[in-house]
Amino acid sequence: MALTVREQVSLSGYTTLGVGGPAARFVDAGTDDQVIAEVRDADATGEPVLVLGGGSNLVVADEGFPGTVVHVATSGVEIISGHDGGVTMTVAAGEDWDRVVERCVAEGLSGIECLSGIPGLAGATPIQNVGAYGQEVSETVVVVRAYDRLRDTTVTLANAECGFGYRTSAFKRSVGPQRGRAALDAAAATGRFVVLGVTFRLSRDPLSAPVRYGELARMLGVGDGGRAPLADVRSAVLALRRGKGMVLDPADPDTRSAGSFFTNPVLDHGQLADVQRRAAAKAGKAAGEISVPHFPAGDGRVKIPAAWLIEQAGFGKGYPGDGGARISSKHTLALVNPGRASSASLVGLAREIRNGVRQAFGVDLVNEPVLVGAEL
Ligand SMILES: Cc1cc2nc3c(=O)[nH]c(=O)nc-3n(C[C@H](O)[C@H](O)[C@H](O)COP(=O)(O)OP(=O)(O)OC[C@H]3O[C@@H](n4cnc5c(N)ncnc54)[C@H](O)[C@@H]3O)c2cc1C
Repeated sequence: MALTVREQVSLSGYTTLGVGGPAARFVDAGTDDQVIAEVRDADATGEPVLVLGGGSNLVVADEGFPGTVVHVATSGVEIISGHDGGVTMTVAAGEDWDRVVERCVAEGLSGIECLSGIPGLAGATPIQNVGAYGQEVSETVVVVRAYDRLRDTTVTLANAECGFGYRTSAFKRSVGPQRGRAALDAAAATGRFVVLGVTFRLSRDPLSAPVRYGELARMLGVGDGGRAPLADVRSAVLALRRGKGMVLDPADPDTRSAGSFFTNPVLDHGQLADVQRRAAAKAGKAAGEISVPHFPAGDGRVKIPAAWLIEQAGFGKGYPGDGGARISSKHTLALVNPGRASSASLVGLAREIRNGVRQAFGVDLVNEPVLVGAEL
C-alpha cells in the first residue's frame, strides 16, 4: 500500500472537536510496517511524533503540531472460536471501534456491547481503558500488540502488563523517546508504545454481560447484574448516549466534543468530608443536611461525579466560555465547539471550570482528553 504524505494539514478536520492548527507533516499509514517505519524514522532524528486515531480524545493547539502526525489507517478483524464457547477477536488498531462493537452484537459475541457508540479507533481503546455504562475494555482485552519505541521492537503485552485503571493504562503513563523542548508536547501525547492491534476475549452468547449500571439496567427492565439480549443493550446504550450528546452527529453541535472533558475525581474520606462541609457552607446549611453523591472506588476511597462538582461550582449545561466554546446543553461534562471556537477558547473554558471547582471544593479536576501543545 502506497504511503500518503502531506504537509501543513489542518488537524481541525481530524479531531471531533474541530479545533487544532496544522501538522508540519501528516502521514496516512495503512500497514503496521508503515506505522512502525514512520515512528522509527522520526524517533531517530528526534522529531516529535503524534499517533492519531479518530481524534476523539484530543485537543490540539491552534498553533498545530511541529512534527509528524502518523494517522493509523490499518485494517483487519480476525475472529477465532474456541471449543469452550469462548472467542478471541484480534482487531487492527485502525478499525473503527463502533463498527467492531456493532459486528460483535450482530454475530452474537458478548462482552463489549455496553461500549457501543464510543467514537475513535480500536487501537486507542486500551490507551485510556475506554469505558462506559459499567464496562471497560480491560475486562475483555487479552493482549495488546505494540511497537515499543524505546526498544525499537514489536512487543505483545498481556492484560496484566497493561496497567489498566480508571481511564488510564501503562500506555497513557509511558513516555516515548522524544528529546528537546519542541518534543515535550508530543511526549505527553503519544507514549512509548504504538498500539498495532488488540485481542479481546468474548463469549458466544446472545445475552449481554451482567449489566452493572443502574440507568441502563432500569431502561432494559433488568435488575443490577441482570442480562439482556445484545441488540437490546446496544440500542439502549445508543439511546442513552444520544440523549447526552455522546454519539457523534454532524447535525447536533452538542456532539462536537471530546466526550467527557474531566475524569471523576477519586477522594479519600477526609477529602469527601471537606467537600461535604464546603457544599453545606455554600448552601447555608449544616454539613449533615447536604448529601454529596459518591460511589465506592476501592481501597476505602470514593469517586465523586465531576459533573456534580462542576454544576455546584456554578457551571451549568450550556455555560458559555469566552470565544465560542461552551458546555454542552445536554451534558455538563462535555465541552463543545458549536461553531468556530478556537482551541485556546476551549482550553480557556476548561481552565475556568477547573479553577472554579478548585476554589469551591478544593478538588483538582483532571482532563480526560490528551492536550497537544496546550495545558490547563
Ligand atoms: C462524543 C464522544 C463520546 C465519548 N464517549 C466516551 C466514553 O463513553 N468512554 C470513553 O472512555 N471515552 C469516550 N470518548 C473519548 C474517545 O472516544 C475515546 O478515548 C477513544 O478511545 C479515542 O480514540 P481515538 O482513536 O479517537 O483516539 P485519538 O483521539 O486519536 O487519540 C487519543 C490518544 O491516544 C493516542 N493513540 C491513538 N491511537 C493510538 C495507537 N494506535 N497507539 C498509541 N497511541 C494511540 C493518541 O496519540 C492520543 O494520545 C468519547 C469521545 C467523544 C467525542
